[in-house]
Amino acid sequence: MTERRPAAPDPAETDLDPADWPALRAQGHRMLDDMLDHLQGIREQPVWRPMSEEVRAAFRREVPTRPSELAEVHREFLQHVLPYAVDNVHPGFMGWVHGGGTVVGMLAEMLAGGLNANCGGRDHAPIEVERQIVAWTRRLFGFPEEATGLFVTGTSMANVVALLVARRAALGAAVREAGLAASGKRLTAYTSAAAHGCLPRAMDYAGLGSDALRRVPVDGRHRIDLDALRRAVAADRAAGATPFLVIGTAGTVDIGAIDDLAALADLAAAERLWFHVDGAFGALGVLTSEIAPRLSGIERAQSLALDFHKWAQVPYDAGFVLVRDGALHRDTFATSAEYLRREARGLAGGTFWPNDFGPDLSRGFRALKTWFTLRVYGTEQLGAMIAQTCRVARHLAARVAAEPRLELLAPAPLNIVCFRYRGADADALNAAIVADVQESGVAAPSTTRIDGALAIRAAIFNHRTRERDVDALVDAVLRHGDRRVGANSPA
Ligand SMILES: *Cc1c(COP(=O)(O)O)cnc(C)c1O
Repeated sequence: MTERRPAAPDPAETDLDPADWPALRAQGHRMLDDMLDHLQGIREQPVWRPMSEEVRAAFRREVPTRPSELAEVHREFLQHVLPYAVDNVHPGFMGWVHGGGTVVGMLAEMLAGGLNANCGGRDHAPIEVERQIVAWTRRLFGFPEEATGLFVTGTSMANVVALLVARRAALGAAVREAGLAASGKRLTAYTSAAAHGCLPRAMDYAGLGSDALRRVPVDGRHRIDLDALRRAVAADRAAGATPFLVIGTAGTVDIGAIDDLAALADLAAAERLWFHVDGAFGALGVLTSEIAPRLSGIERAQSLALDFHKWAQVPYDAGFVLVRDGALHRDTFATSAEYLRREARGLAGGTFWPNDFGPDLSRGFRALKTWFTLRVYGTEQLGAMIAQTCRVARHLAARVAAEPRLELLAPAPLNIVCFRYRGADADALNAAIVADVQESGVAAPSTTRIDGALAIRAAIFNHRTRERDVDALVDAVLRHGDRRVGANSPA
């Protein structure tokens, strides 16, 4: 028999559920509608607008000791948060590497919030949803059945997890209790000069030190130079170090270069190195036949880090790590604690407890928004959308190439275009143009440096971005560039 709560709650008791469910329901529907209106009309909004001091002041209040109406707090959200978000949902957002999100992902987030599942472990359906994503990811990347996977915040954390598994493989189980010093070994790792900055940080967190990550030069296409890599490994061995890991990049953050992953897999096998791939955004290029062949060799990685929140448009955050040797993955993190005992029956059952595969114990239900995204769109539509972002980038690159006042600074093999306005003191000029364009609300590119030169970087990740949006970017760059150059030229 199930026990029922008393119909009229004891006034001495308190819980956080609404006193008036119908009113809450109406308010909830309004909040949902407001957000859908915002997303439907996003093109009419500026990409970004600076916050006034008054807006900032709204977030410097005292700790709220008294309750407020939900409707009132929501009004404040509409007034002070929504208009001033970094609008990566906007088609004019082209800065950094940000996914655009989807309405489907948002609705799934709401459902996950309602369930409030703790996905650290135990035997409940949300864990099965995560296992389903692990199985699909394995299949997408040609990994074997023993491979294991885990949702984490982002690729920064996925790289840390993979690095710790590689460290465990290099030093054996003892490293977990005795630490690095007991091994007496000096581990060294290798990646390209174009690799992401989270990799040296991961080396730091793993106790290996960021200096132990050798940054190998790149070729003309920004891919790791394999001969230079071989020489670096040999030099370290000759100096008494223990090379243990090589990290390939599938889609560099600057320009979208993909290392020769098949050649890296061969080299790693010959040199007995762990082969990890940072595929933060580029790995999901497997969803389109236009990119998949260029990722050949990714299926031979021992571990792979990727983000569903970039090209796949799953709302933040949804990082993921896949490890070929699942037993080793588990051996890197699993411990036994009485309060986390596994049972043959009941809620404490189940063999896949995600907390055995990474540092987090309590974990949210990131798998649900990913599951909804993959189910609702299917890999074919997601692949077509990814191919479209590359098409829009090619249009941008062609416009830049055709415009004498602009120059391309790097090849654009995927969806990222690096260019600049020509002129004297070009670094300062282009930094100013980027800020002008961002403040105009028309588009939001970011900057990077290519061979020392400051570049305007337009990364087309948003599924909503069309050719007319990159045309608007080019027009704005020319307008602000002309104005600035004109203002500086002698009258
Ligand atoms: C974005 C990115 C990262 C970092 O991923 P986060 O999800 O931001 O932690 C790492 N490597 C590459 C190549 C990236 O593009």
